[in-house]
Amino acid sequence: MPRIAYVNGRYVRHRDAVVHVEDRGYQFADGVYEVCEVRAGRLVDERRHMQRLARSLDELSIAWPLSPSAVAVILREVVRLNRIGNGIVYLQVTRGVAPRNHAFPNPAVRPSMVVTARELDRAAMDEKAAHGISVITVPENRWDRVDIKTVGLLPNVLAKQTAKEAGAYEAWFVDRDGFVTEGSSTNAWIVTRDGVLVTRPAEHGILRGVTRSVIFAFAEREGIRLEERAFTLEEAQAAREAFMTGASTIVLPIISVDGKRIANGKPGPVAGKLRSVYHHHAEVAPA
Ligand code: PLP
Repeated sequence: MPRIAYVNGRYVRHRDAVVHVEDRGYQFADGVYEVCEVRAGRLVDERRHMQRLARSLDELSIAWPLSPSAVAVILREVVRLNRIGNGIVYLQVTRGVAPRNHAFPNPAVRPSMVVTARELDRAAMDEKAAHGISVITVPENRWDRVDIKTVGLLPNVLAKQTAKEAGAYEAWFVDRDGFVTEGSSTNAWIVTRDGVLVTRPAEHGILRGVTRSVIFAFAEREGIRLEERAFTLEEAQAAREAFMTGASTIVLPIISVDGKRIANGKPGPVAGKLRSVYHHHAEVAPA
């Protein structure tokens, strides 16, 4: 069965899926994206992902390429055509194709939209979660609008590569004041010695993760103490637990940061619990 992608109005073979050389996403990273988990063929937390997409588009003054309901149909169709059981669907919208010029095209051109999907190895991810992962830190070097989910991800790419070369799974950015912002593609969390969940406020310096928002709602419902505040690298290294969240990894326990073991060096119970209950609290869309 060939992989199928959606590109600007057509469903095409993945290997033939191309965009124009003057697409502004390709030339300027002038575009936004979303990654939505697919579970048993259904989209997870679609409503929140679409809300965030709307915000990202609005922040960059990019029009919706199609109506939100048409986008929803295409996401489902790409999942169906690729027979995705458990995996992810990727959606990218750019400002469109225009002669290379930094200013926005005037008049505006039609935004480009691409959707792909792929199966993920859930068992491998569960295995990773069972053992826990290691994180290294890198200096925060991104622009101050990382709250917009743009495809301009070069610092994130370099951070992840640095982690990989160091034998770690993720890199945490640390700002000038020594506070952890977030991972290269995940939000960062700790559990303090008093059992309080701590993660950085989403107003500044991080992406408001959908997985993060679901955990907030869960904590509120269950009466789990949660503090939205910045934490330092040292606080993380002295924490009872650390973990990261994202749509394709859900919750992954962290067992070391910059080579320093977290607590006893084993995945903690809070992260384990959050991972196991996550899908009871996520919203699963109709097929
Ligand atoms: N932070 C960054 C920089 C990301 O790229 C991502 C996801 O791609 C996240 C956090 C987690 O967001 P979500 O939970 O919506 O996947």
